[in-house]
Amino acid sequence: MKTYPTFRACTLSKKEKHDKIKDGWRKKMMEEYKDYMVDAIAGNESIRAYAVTSRNLVEYARKAHNLSPIATAALGRTMSVTVLMGSMLKNESDTLTVQINGNGPLKNITAVSDNGGNVRGYVANPYVILPPEANGHLNVGGGVGQGTLTVIRDLGLKEPYVSTIPLRTGEIGDDFTYYFAQSEQTPSSVGLGVLLNKENVMVAHAGGFILQLLPNCPEEIIEKLEANLKEFKGVTETLKEEDTPEHLLKTVLKGFDIDFLSKKDVQFKCNCSYERGLRVLSSLGEEELKKIVGEGKPVEVSCSFCGKKYDYSLDVLKDLQKKAHEEAGKKAEKK
Ligand SMILES: [Zn+2]
Repeated sequence: MKTYPTFRACTLSKKEKHDKIKDGWRKKMMEEYKDYMVDAIAGNESIRAYAVTSRNLVEYARKAHNLSPIATAALGRTMSVTVLMGSMLKNESDTLTVQINGNGPLKNITAVSDNGGNVRGYVANPYVILPPEANGHLNVGGGVGQGTLTVIRDLGLKEPYVSTIPLRTGEIGDDFTYYFAQSEQTPSSVGLGVLLNKENVMVAHAGGFILQLLPNCPEEIIEKLEANLKEFKGVTETLKEEDTPEHLLKTVLKGFDIDFLSKKDVQFKCNCSYERGLRVLSSLGEEELKKIVGEGKPVEVSCSFCGKKYDYSLDVLKDLQKKAHEEAGKKAEKK
């Protein structure tokens, strides 16, 4: 079993590079840019590769949750890898949940995706601000801290598949490289990156890749890939050259034959609704509902994934309480 070096996301870059971004380039990017992912097979069918560009969905999350730069980077990296792993699910109704529980100030990070390129996520503490690292990078590892990484695959069976590993660095890319080796016995390399613009406000670039060695991968391919990874300058540096997942893979797999298999749009998409909120409220049970109704006020339920708010009037709450009471009565009868 072998693991490969991964890369820290480049987060802040030099002034001259930003000036270049300002002129027309950013405008062009905004007009022509689209989030999507690709998957490919490379190195004479010995490497499986996945890559995504995710600027718009990370920017959506940043706005929806009012994320600080470090929270944007942490959630953006997590959502990028989650949407790639989601694409490996077989069925439309399957879901993949990633939970990062650290002792750092960001606390928990959660992201959920399906196999259709839809992902949603949130950070328990979205307002964290930490001093940057010596090299100017956002200190995502410091924000996450030590803890665990859990991947839950719900394939519609009786029980979901749950797998937990200790976090390695909290930088997220490293942690997933370790996850694939430990939990799935698949030698992999995961690279993730989120770069904010000069003002450290908007997301300028985001994306990532997963490379996996297929069984019986020849030694010379492994060596070449390791050499490529060593000289790889980082996800967002590469996306600055050309903001496409194809370019990411062509760069990290330089010198290999690459056969692109499919392409899929990705987006931030939440599945919350007024009805879902109702179900959450009714799951509180009769006693709790009685308390809420007793306060005599409508309630607002906000979705932790997208921040959308739903209002429930006192009449609706009374109705829920009545139904909960009837349910409790029926249960008692049965006994
Ligand atoms: Zn929502």
